[in-house]
Amino acid sequence: MKDSHNRSINYMRISITDRCNLRCRYCMPEDVPFISHERILRFEEILRICRLAGRLGIRKFKVTGGEPLIRKGCLSFLKELKKLPDTDQVTLTTNGVFLKDCLPELQAIGIDGVNISLDTLNPDTFRHITGRSDFARVMDAILSCQACGIRTKINTVLLKDVNDHEFWDLIQLAHDYPLDVRFIEIMPIGFGKEYQGYDRSSLLPLLSTRYPDYETTNKTRGNGPAVYVSIPGFQGYIGFIDAIHGKFCHQCNRIRLTSDGMLKLCLYYNNGINIKEMIRNQLEDEQIMAVMQDAIFHKPAEHQFYHTALEGTEEARKMSQIGG
Ligand code: SAM
Ligand code: SF4
Repeated sequence: MKDSHNRSINYMRISITDRCNLRCRYCMPEDVPFISHERILRFEEILRICRLAGRLGIRKFKVTGGEPLIRKGCLSFLKELKKLPDTDQVTLTTNGVFLKDCLPELQAIGIDGVNISLDTLNPDTFRHITGRSDFARVMDAILSCQACGIRTKINTVLLKDVNDHEFWDLIQLAHDYPLDVRFIEIMPIGFGKEYQGYDRSSLLPLLSTRYPDYETTNKTRGNGPAVYVSIPGFQGYIGFIDAIHGKFCHQCNRIRLTSDGMLKLCLYYNNGINIKEMIRNQLEDEQIMAVMQDAIFHKPAEHQFYHTALEGTEEARKMSQIGG
């Protein structure tokens, strides 16, 4: 459906849990309180919301977290989501630690792609960033995805003085394998506020020092706002997602469902509609859909990161609670 700014809204990111097995410094360091199980949407509740969203024209779903693969029943949920009458596409964003064993089932379900977060190729730096020693498992999952032909994108948050020295090595993955490597600009949400990152205005000039023949492509390679470049001889593309400095609100196509049942219209704002309450108060489909439709129509025009926020509007949730 179109919102009041004439944007087509056709994509929903669904966070199915706020819990995670990793403790990435910029996302969820050790001490975060988790949402209690009864406050988390049950899978059948999420599926009902997705079915209604599908009727409103939202047909592409990205399942995220926290870490989605640690929630029991995640694969069965993906299967059901894929089977909904209006679903066009289901993809998954994961840290990759538990991915390898899930690949046969994901393939059988017909998953349309996986995004794997990987900020480093060095096991020690991996431990430093994530607090865990799972580098080899993630790498193994990435290689297994290549072996079974699942469309793969690597998401990397490049941080000053943490992993920025690995820029070239990370890019090399798209040379060696048919996968895209995307650099995500760190957003000042939660613990992300403590880090300094990069956007394409600094990374592209750097890229050109070694690959002057790179070309910016207009091709859309997913649902997101990434700007992609191709490099001669590379099998995959290099992407840049600059939510802050390359503000792409005018072409935003997405809404978000948090694990505790809030429909968020914009990552920045703390408000949204409490769909869980409507479901648990036994509202009819048509009533819930009408509220969703109205909320989506009034999706905010743009985020206000780095601008003066209206008092009390800025999102206070952590990224692990929203799903990225
Ligand atoms: N656990 C899964 C993962 O890591 O892919 C899914 C959830 S995680 C919140 C989704 C993505 O958000 C990851 O690629 C992560 O690097 C990114 N992320 C987390 N905090 C961020 C921040 N403050 N700014 C930008 N990206 C962030
Ligand atoms: Fe977990 Fe993903 Fe956050 Fe890392 S970025 S702590 S893997 S939710």
